[in-house]
Amino acid sequence: MFSDASNWAIGAVAYLRVVTTDGQCEVGFVLGKAKLASQSGPTIPRLELCGAVLAVEMAELILDELDHKPDAVRFYSDSKVVLGYICNESKRFFVYVHNRVQRIRQTTSPQQWYYVPTNQNPADLATRAVPASWLTDTMWFTGPEFLHKPHQPETPRSFELVDPEEDVDVRPQLTTLATSLRESELASERFQRFSTWEYLLRAVSFLIHQIRSHRTNSTVTCKGWHQCNQPRTPEELQAAKIVIIKAAQRDAYPEECVVLLENRAIPKSSTILNLDPFVCDGLLRIGGLLRHASVNPEVKNPIILPKQSHVTRLLVSHHHAKVKHQGRQFIEGAIRAAGLWIVAGKRLIGSVLHRCVTCCKLRGKLETQKMADLPSERLSSSPPFTYVGLDVFGPWNVIS
Ligand SMILES: [Zn+2]
Ligand SMILES: [Zn+2]
Repeated sequence: MFSDASNWAIGAVAYLRVVTTDGQCEVGFVLGKAKLASQSGPTIPRLELCGAVLAVEMAELILDELDHKPDAVRFYSDSKVVLGYICNESKRFFVYVHNRVQRIRQTTSPQQWYYVPTNQNPADLATRAVPASWLTDTMWFTGPEFLHKPHQPETPRSFELVDPEEDVDVRPQLTTLATSLRESELASERFQRFSTWEYLLRAVSFLIHQIRSHRTNSTVTCKGWHQCNQPRTPEELQAAKIVIIKAAQRDAYPEECVVLLENRAIPKSSTILNLDPFVCDGLLRIGGLLRHASVNPEVKNPIILPKQSHVTRLLVSHHHAKVKHQGRQFIEGAIRAAGLWIVAGKRLIGSVLHRCVTCCKLRGKLETQKMADLPSERLSSSPPFTYVGLDVFGPWNVIS
């Protein structure tokens, strides 16, 4: 089956090809058909597709009428666009092309479709005005030359869509994204990105400020999502501190936090059992014996900090810098005065001290210059004034 189309007409032609046992090829004209193209002005690829449909319909008719069914039916088109449409598995088409491709694939498979150059396509004659008397001189009745050869030329077995982005009949690819939002506490692994407590505090307080500026009855003057140049208020910083420490505690002591919020006893295996913890403002604090003492509640019931948390390390470094890089006891005192209690904190403080660059410099040993060997003249006894040294320039300060 050969099909073709022009602006005026679409056409298809069928041949029956027989190969004898001694390799002889006989080709016979079976049926040819031409139709005027629609006047509504469809594009050439659409007309070529109509031609392909015509070929499929003719093939069905012929196969119905033939008593002896052929071994194979091959369809030839000179339009790579149409072959691309028929072989397509990935893109979707608009209705016109979609319906016709469906029709073609109803009774044929893409493996039956082949490409033929226009000059070897006999259906091309059906789409042009050719006087009947000339037809005998053309391949209309005899079929193209290659049909007479025992071996058919190889053509690609699969065809890609031609310029699918430019083709108006190919539906543009739409990507739909679904965003699923999960409400969760601020996870403390995000804090790993911060190298100092100040940066972390500033970032979280900025987030809190943004949240507040979105509230309708907010007390802040800023509105909506904005770049904020104002400094953060102490109240915002305090809120940020609570959020950060809460996240760190939730990560380190998830079970204890849940149990204490429900007013149940914490498990015996808990590492903070002997601290007699309780929850106040959502933070785990140390119980202890000073409940009735008239001292600052921050000092009375310090906040529990897990030793392995990045937040704790940042806080230790922060207080270490605050006491101007003084020793262990000063840091411990500063942390305690800030109302914090680090579980097994001595080792962590030691590790922070050990890694502090400023401390390494301050506590480092004074380096001394290694002396070079004395010259041999100074080591052998000889009469006075045998060797004379002269200091011409005086000392030069290399490092001031
Ligand atoms: Zn603002
Ligand atoms: Zn230091």
